[in-house]
Amino acid sequence: MNKIKYFDLQKYASTDVKYAQVSQMPLDRLSDFIQQEGWKLVKKTDAEEIYKDEYLNRLIEVQFSKSFTNKDDPQSGFSFPSDRQGRLKPGNEDQVKSIRYIHEHAEKFNEPVINAEIFKTKLCDCGSGEIVQPVYDAKGIFVTHVCPKCRKDKLSKYRKEIFYNTDYSTTEEENSSYEQ
Ligand SMILES: [Zn+2]
Repeated sequence: MNKIKYFDLQKYASTDVKYAQVSQMPLDRLSDFIQQEGWKLVKKTDAEEIYKDEYLNRLIEVQFSKSFTNKDDPQSGFSFPSDRQGRLKPGNEDQVKSIRYIHEHAEKFNEPVINAEIFKTKLCDCGSGEIVQPVYDAKGIFVTHVCPKCRKDKLSKYRKEIFYNTDYSTTEEENSSYEQ
């Protein structure tokens, strides 16, 4: 198995939600959850943990955040990227202002909670260990998933025309996909 390119993950997690499921849970539930899912640890630091779900061929990145919810309205509040211990990562001016506000109005907020944010990203089915990218044809119709390693090979199975001609004929494929 090739080395997993986990450093590409965040890019896909933030730009293409279809291929990166994101969910959040309190940190104290994380270990049980990981065990139950059978994820294999790939990398672990204070700030993030990377796992692999070999059964579903997904890469899982766990990041941490610290949330301060409003006592009156638990659905609202603030959340900042942190490490596992709840130490906040350096933030922008807005974050500094928000933290100052929380400190000045501590009575309005619940005790902070550390959350685990889970980004699941699908790896390519060719076994390269790379993250998949969707390919669309000239009409904007989904064609297949590829990664840089198998792109050429997979796309060679399709008529070239479908990728540049927006008026390509679909009569041959009416009852099936484009795949030959
Ligand atoms: Zn591939």
